[in-house]
Amino acid sequence: MERKTRVRFAPSPTGPLHMGGVRTALYNYLYAKQHGGDFILRIEDTDSHRFVPGAEAYIIEALRWCGIVPDEGVDADGKMVETASAQHPHAPYRQSQRRAIYRQYAEQLVENGYAYYAFDSAAALEERRAEAERAGQTFLYGLTTRDTLRNSLTLSAEETERLLRETDSWTIRFKMPAHTVVKMDDLIRGHIEVNTDTLDDKVLWKRADELPTYHLANIVDDHLMEITEVIRGEEWLPSLPLHYMLYKAFGWEDTMPRFAHLSLLLKPVGNGKLSKRDGDKMGFPVFPLQWVNAEGETSHGYREDGYFPEAFVNMLAMLGWNPGTEQELFSMEELIQAFSLNKVQKAGAKFNPDKAKWYNREYLRAKRDEELTDLFIPVLQEQGITVTGCPKCPVSADFAAKEFSWNYVRNVVALVKERATFVRDFWTSAACLFTAPAEFVQKDVDKFWKPEIKEQVRQAAAHLLDTGVSFEKETVGSSLEEYIRAQEWPMGKVMNALRLALTGAASGLGIADILSFIGPEEFRARLSAAEM
Ligand code: GLU
Repeated sequence: MERKTRVRFAPSPTGPLHMGGVRTALYNYLYAKQHGGDFILRIEDTDSHRFVPGAEAYIIEALRWCGIVPDEGVDADGKMVETASAQHPHAPYRQSQRRAIYRQYAEQLVENGYAYYAFDSAAALEERRAEAERAGQTFLYGLTTRDTLRNSLTLSAEETERLLRETDSWTIRFKMPAHTVVKMDDLIRGHIEVNTDTLDDKVLWKRADELPTYHLANIVDDHLMEITEVIRGEEWLPSLPLHYMLYKAFGWEDTMPRFAHLSLLLKPVGNGKLSKRDGDKMGFPVFPLQWVNAEGETSHGYREDGYFPEAFVNMLAMLGWNPGTEQELFSMEELIQAFSLNKVQKAGAKFNPDKAKWYNREYLRAKRDEELTDLFIPVLQEQGITVTGCPKCPVSADFAAKEFSWNYVRNVVALVKERATFVRDFWTSAACLFTAPAEFVQKDVDKFWKPEIKEQVRQAAAHLLDTGVSFEKETVGSSLEEYIRAQEWPMGKVMNALRLALTGAASGLGIADILSFIGPEEFRARLSAAEM
């Protein structure tokens, strides 16, 4: 019988989700939706030493921001589901709350000869490790050593019973079968074979905290949650032979999921995994959302840095996958249609921060001016500017009161959006359309604030104001240029000096644009403030 597609994203809450992790979640989501299946979020928090408070909430929030909505695991309020229901039949989805489930599975493997109890102390194992090192070897708890260690394979049944009863730091280890070639298939990497003699006997369950290790919990949960495909990072590829052997040992081979291991995201320059350090060095985020760690250090997030979630998702989707066409812009819906694991590349995908910006620019340009206006308003408010009125109200600007109509702001947006990457860039390029300059760029002052040019600017301005010419863009622009030309003054210098007086810098928006926005009154005020 054809099984319903069910995939999961199974992060460990050990810190903020790296963008590579978001990509893993995204590919799982796209795959599930394309196949009409379910996307499940499971929190793998069995390693209490690595648990970081706030990480789980961060993961959920990051997925939500990206529009990657789990079908199972998280409720509408963004909380992990703890009680089973028709919608969430496998709750709880947090492994620490499933601890009662795992022990019986570990014991089952012992009973069937696939696992054994190990009683070695940490000190004893350390000693063996050091010994091997001295001999230039690496110690593996496994085929060649397990018979020389303290475990239920070497101890008598009575002794084993006693130790199980009386001690509390024993573990259950998988007994990796000897001389076996594990034949595996990966949906991205193809056929892989590994000889079990190179593998060690991994710990599956620990008496000390009564918790499973990642390997056991992961396999048991994927089985119980009826997962059909496991799509995860390539750092888990070395664990695949063990996972295959576990499925076999449990007798679950028939329903074993298919596996796909995704290549790493690589740093923009040089080789190696994309790390937070690369981001800090080159000034780009590696996390979807801002994260403040326990020491109070803040890491940048795409959201807070002004990226649109659609742009971030689109950019991530293309990191390591390509549709086989020239198309680069995809909505989530389009990604769901076009995505295919066959076209996910085996090689690592180099992250290009400029491309991330390119995506944001494309999405920004495609947005309607009205939407961008609403997004720009909070930026203006931070600058102490009030926006009044509605899309149907007339254009108005009160520079003294710092009050502008919604449509004035919309006109500003329409003027500057073509050259912006982020919404906050609107302010950078158009602050002068809202406030008089607080200061003047010194090198521009040195260059253009010459008595002769100042006088020319003063006269040109007087001409505009005295003739009462309309400050409508076309009219005011050509009137100014004609006047300067007729006087045979240096056009560039006068214009730059005028811009300097009005905006604080010699370069920036066109003079005609500036004049048409600020109007004659503010024009006069700024010139007198600049002592023209
Ligand atoms: N908890 C593992 C992680 O943090 C999950 C690996 C898997 O998907 O099997 O990446």
